[in-house]
Amino acid sequence: MVGSSKVKKVASDAVAFLEVLDTAGVVADLTNQVVDQSSKAKDIGLVEYDKVISPELVELMTQARVTRQSVSQELYFAKNNRSPKLFISARATLLSEELVILLIEDRTEAKRLDETRRDFVENISHELKTPISAISLLSEALQIALDDPEQVQKFATNLQRESKRLGALVTKIIQLSRIQAGDLKGEIAVFDLGHVIDEAVELNQFLADSKGVRITADTPSGIMIDGDSELISMALKNLIENAVLYSENNSNVGVGLSVVDDFAEVAVIDKGIGIPVDQQERIFERFYRVDPSRSRDTGGTGLGLSIVKHAANNHGGEVTLFSRPNLGSTFTLRLPIHQDDQQKDTK
Ligand code: ADP
Repeated sequence: MVGSSKVKKVASDAVAFLEVLDTAGVVADLTNQVVDQSSKAKDIGLVEYDKVISPELVELMTQARVTRQSVSQELYFAKNNRSPKLFISARATLLSEELVILLIEDRTEAKRLDETRRDFVENISHELKTPISAISLLSEALQIALDDPEQVQKFATNLQRESKRLGALVTKIIQLSRIQAGDLKGEIAVFDLGHVIDEAVELNQFLADSKGVRITADTPSGIMIDGDSELISMALKNLIENAVLYSENNSNVGVGLSVVDDFAEVAVIDKGIGIPVDQQERIFERFYRVDPSRSRDTGGTGLGLSIVKHAANNHGGEVTLFSRPNLGSTFTLRLPIHQDDQQKDTK
């Protein structure tokens, strides 16, 4: 029994160390019976009835024991059918003659980011290629059609549209990479949110008129925000632009502003095509579009909402969404309101 309490002590010391490092880890004996585990391991749900529930992980611990070496593997793990699938990096190594320690790193988010980054580069090249090759083809067509004024007119109009699209795309790529790098040159100051919303509505007025969409904005003044008004204006412009673009002709778009607790909430409401629930989280990712062909028709870049999300985050706020297909969408931008020194003191 001395041996067993000694073993337990080694295991609990190791787990105490894992707690300090905030790491998921499990210590098991020669029969793969779990002796101790860290709270992070409990959160993931690695162990049930004193056994690690994944056969691959048990195999990894056995390998470490047999080879007396540190072994590692990356794999997917889910506690059960209802739990989210995690992408984990597992490492098993001998802790003592009797014990094996299994360390788990949850790499789900890192893997997702890696994939998004890879997609981003691939997508940029793809997205840029489309208007560039269109411009090249159109200019060739223009050369051939020089004697036909009607054709010249048509090709020139298309050429303008494609170069505008290319310009918008490049601008948004630059804006987004800047925001992500935290490299904002804008003025950080106190500004009136209602005025910035009016500005963003104004910037979309031409587009709205061309579709017969009526934008109704209820924007009381005096709600003050600390931050970069240019960036917030850009974010609101994107939200209102989407509301107009993804609505039927001659419909209504509403923009409201209110204060809830210490946050200003700007709601941009449309009765347009809506967004399927399973895609609502993904639309904030760079270049993600629910329906790429439709988005291309609208001249979309797939970057607008990503800019909104980063602008909100940079201001300590957030953007949320309620949407149902064919009923419409409401995007809400929440920003902490400016607190004057007196208010701060009373907090
Ligand atoms: P895009 O430039 O393609 O509009 P965004 O990042 O602004 O890119 O939006 C991403 C995707 O989210 C769009 O392609 C569209 O499918 C969907 N979306 C955004 N806003 C709305 C909206 N108000 N109604 C319906 N779908 C929307």
